[in-house]
Amino acid sequence: MTGSQKQASAVLAAIMESTRDAIYTKDIEGIITNWNPGAERLFGYKAQEIIGKPNALLIPRESLAEETAVTERLYYSLRIQHYETVRLTKSGAKLQISLTVAPLKDEHGVVIGAVKIARDISRHKELEETAARLRLVFEAAPNGMVMVNERGVITMVNSQMERLFGYARAEMLGQTIELLLPERFRGSHPGQRAEFFDFPQTRAMGHSRDLFARRKDGSEFPVEVGLNPAATPEGKVVLAAIIDISERKGMEEALAKAHFQLQQHARKLETAVAERTADLRATIAELEAFSYSLSHDMRAPLRTIQSFSQIVLEEAGGKLGETQKRLLNKVITAASRLDRLIQDVLTYSRVLRSSVQLTRVDVEQLVRQIIDERPEFQPPHAEIEIAGPLPLVCGHEACLTQCVTNLLDNAVKFIAPQRKPRVRIWCEPIDGQIRIWFQDNGIGIPKEAQKRLFGLFQRVHGEKSYAGTGIGLAIVRKAVERMGGKVGFESQPGEGSRFWLQLRPAD
Ligand code: ADP
Repeated sequence: MTGSQKQASAVLAAIMESTRDAIYTKDIEGIITNWNPGAERLFGYKAQEIIGKPNALLIPRESLAEETAVTERLYYSLRIQHYETVRLTKSGAKLQISLTVAPLKDEHGVVIGAVKIARDISRHKELEETAARLRLVFEAAPNGMVMVNERGVITMVNSQMERLFGYARAEMLGQTIELLLPERFRGSHPGQRAEFFDFPQTRAMGHSRDLFARRKDGSEFPVEVGLNPAATPEGKVVLAAIIDISERKGMEEALAKAHFQLQQHARKLETAVAERTADLRATIAELEAFSYSLSHDMRAPLRTIQSFSQIVLEEAGGKLGETQKRLLNKVITAASRLDRLIQDVLTYSRVLRSSVQLTRVDVEQLVRQIIDERPEFQPPHAEIEIAGPLPLVCGHEACLTQCVTNLLDNAVKFIAPQRKPRVRIWCEPIDGQIRIWFQDNGIGIPKEAQKRLFGLFQRVHGEKSYAGTGIGLAIVRKAVERMGGKVGFESQPGEGSRFWLQLRPAD
């Protein structure tokens, strides 16, 4: 071997040692004659294990025919560049490789074998498959998808883009993205695009302003754009998803219009209701005034009927027969009942009409005074106990007097015959207010009648056993409401009732 031949074979050996590619040779019989570290790594065989063994060890059965064809070409000194094929590793796994095969010749130029250079392309294949899958996703996306490079040039579009913009794919590829913008935005866009590439981040475009895109025919449509930066071997790119929001915008506008109309309508309705309420209030006030004066004026003739009947009974009683006397007595009773009814109606309308100024009212003093003034609230007729001190409340003295009187009237009235009325009055704080209880030992109120008790002219117990007009509790409710309070009761038929009033405590 000459010096330069020695040098060449040293260089060759160094290349064989250091390259990552698998390099091996086989003789004309197909027996492996050289095996470098790259081949060890790729196929898993050590040089000493494989040298001297047939090359066919590395070839899957289905590729043997292909190998024969390659070998045939070698006889004609033909070199075979980078063909992709499959080989077997020592463990039997299949490898995707790119193979280059060159003939090995002796000094006479006769082919004596082959050099093979193999490179693992499994990873490359995988990447290709991933890219193909991504292209599929890109294509199948329901939105327009466009990829733009750092210079703003469109490098990829999907078919939705053709549908959205009316351009053929080829008309968009290679153009700058400004092609898809309305002309008025085209000037400022390259600057904005450059800024985005300086600080790329996944985000929606346009922030709060509306975005518009331009179709090939020049028409515009509102869009929403999502930007996704990505790094590729070819440099930075941005993947933009474009959604046509014309329909949504249309719906939003229709909704806003409907909302506006609804508001207008509500306002009109409010005005109409306010006007009608005012009219109704005026009518009610007139009617109240009318019923007040009517009731008031009815009392005078009624008293005449009552007193003249009384006089006839007293002065001519001797001359009258029993039936005539009974009839006259009926006239007097009916007249006094009507008078009581009129009085109650007058009280009710007074409670409705009078102005109610709230002041500090001493409940205990007020209750004691009412009891003092009415013998039927005192022993031996009844026993009314005030349990514990009663506080000062924020109320109206006349209204509260009316309420307490009516409740006590009922408490001592609706009692079983021969039973002595016992009433207990006490207070408790509740929900920031004072509740004043009036508990009796009366006949109680049937469940089915309890709901309607505070309505006008509602009577549960018959007139024959218990006289009354059915206005007392209606007055209580109105008076309490006018003082900003509440009223209620609990009752067990046969065991008694507990009525309560609730008012704000005095400051
Ligand atoms: P009036 O006492 O004039 O009949 P109210 O409006 O004061 O009218 O009461 C309505 C009805 O509620 C009464 O007729 C009576 O049937 C029932 N009621 C009221 N308070 C009591 C009570 N403490 N116990 C039993 N029933 C009652």
